[in-house]
Amino acid sequence: MTLMDVDPTQTPLQREAAVTIFEKGAPGRRAFVAPALDVPPVDPSTLLPAAFRRAEGPRLPELSEPEIVRHYVKLSKRNFDLDSGFYPLGSCTMKHNPRLHERVAALPGHARLHPFQHPKRAQGALELMWNLERALSEVSGLPHVSLQPSAGSHGELAGVLLARAYHEDRGQTRTKVLTPDTAHGTNPATVTMAGLEVVKVGTNADGGVDLDDLRAKATEDVACLMLTNPNTLGVFDPNIAEIAEIVHGVGSVLYYDGANLNAIMGITRPGDMGFDIVHFNLHKSFTQPHGGGGPGSGPIAVSQRMEPYLMNPRIVKDEDGSFDLRDESEKSIGRLRGFQGNYGCFVRSYAYICSLGAEGLKDASESAVLNANYLLAKLGDVSEHLPLAYGKLCMHEFVLSGAPMKRELGIKTLDLAKRLLDHGYHPPTVYFPLLVEEALLVEPTETETRETLDLFAEAIKAILLEAAEDPEIARAAPYTTPVRRLDEALAAKRPVIRQPL
Ligand SMILES: *Cc1c(COP(=O)(O)O)cnc(C)c1O
Repeated sequence: MTLMDVDPTQTPLQREAAVTIFEKGAPGRRAFVAPALDVPPVDPSTLLPAAFRRAEGPRLPELSEPEIVRHYVKLSKRNFDLDSGFYPLGSCTMKHNPRLHERVAALPGHARLHPFQHPKRAQGALELMWNLERALSEVSGLPHVSLQPSAGSHGELAGVLLARAYHEDRGQTRTKVLTPDTAHGTNPATVTMAGLEVVKVGTNADGGVDLDDLRAKATEDVACLMLTNPNTLGVFDPNIAEIAEIVHGVGSVLYYDGANLNAIMGITRPGDMGFDIVHFNLHKSFTQPHGGGGPGSGPIAVSQRMEPYLMNPRIVKDEDGSFDLRDESEKSIGRLRGFQGNYGCFVRSYAYICSLGAEGLKDASESAVLNANYLLAKLGDVSEHLPLAYGKLCMHEFVLSGAPMKRELGIKTLDLAKRLLDHGYHPPTVYFPLLVEEALLVEPTETETRETLDLFAEAIKAILLEAAEDPEIARAAPYTTPVRRLDEALAAKRPVIRQPL
């Protein structure tokens, strides 16, 4: 299709939107024309052997500069991002990313550092990474850190491999990993990737781990328990000391999924709760921008008994104060990736930790919990339709159940989420955690103002009032987005990611 084939009854803008960049332009059209050559041209066949030369030129669109600029600006406006509006996506900690961090990360010494730079010539970078490791060690209460993993889930994989190596070193083959039924999907996925077996542990009436179920399942063949505390219900499990005792009692290891660290920084520490391994999501709690698929960073911190198995190479500080990268242990599970990790993430997160300081991190967590409870209280007006799933208060996020709303007003949580798009909000997480019917998982974060939270609560109320009048409106939402309802199953199973030429 070209621009001229589009249905002429559509508006000019609709017609333009109906064709892709590959269908625009004209042969020979250019954004920039270089001056004519003033040296003799070189025959390309003398530069590259025939096998490496293409027979035809690349099939790229030929466009003017304004066409290119408009194309990319249009694309950038079709997505929703944290800089456009409120993004209370539970479990993901979509907090504001301070612009100061971008300035620091863009300094040429950081941005232009080559991954193959010799450690002797990258002392500043290694020092920054060392300092970040020390800070994360302090936040987690665990002595040793590796920055290698590229995401929380990658940190999980490292942790499960570490637990396996620990047991194997003791001559034990442990094949099972316990995960609560509130766990994030990456936990069981990680266990499967590591070649171990997932065993689910139930949740008690308060939203914590069912201790009887845990006791029954904590057997001598369990490699570790993976837990996040507060969990994905926004509930802090007060039985954590007892949980640790049960798990350690059978010689097993305790893994902390640190994705919910934003609730507890400077207040309590996984190491103090008895955990052996923790992952951090620098792109959640520590302000590395995320939401577009990366880059991320998921460092892990481990206890003394896990240290021999930690990934190589490590950042070491020698007696003369210089830094190096060295393989420190023969028992190490090895290397998890090329190079040391996404360095720009380290710079931003280190800038965040330095600019907030210990008190500031604590303040961030306290404000995150306060904001979540404020919004929860505001939504108390609609609790007959959207009740809190567990407990009365929450940590940094909370889970509402849309089950009564579905029964009484005829709209599902999905409809509410889609209608929120028309109000200009990114919807909260929906249908997770799995054990809550019609779940809506809301995480406002500490960086939102009271006014934003008030307006968001009003939007939810308006949608419920509207549904009481006419549920069809929400059922057909959204109306204002570039695309309406997508076939999500088909999009996941048969994604079209390449423009056919
Ligand atoms: C985000 C998240 C993960 C996975 O982290 P990624 O960095 O996305 O791989 C694990 N557990 C919980 C609870 C999470 O919210």
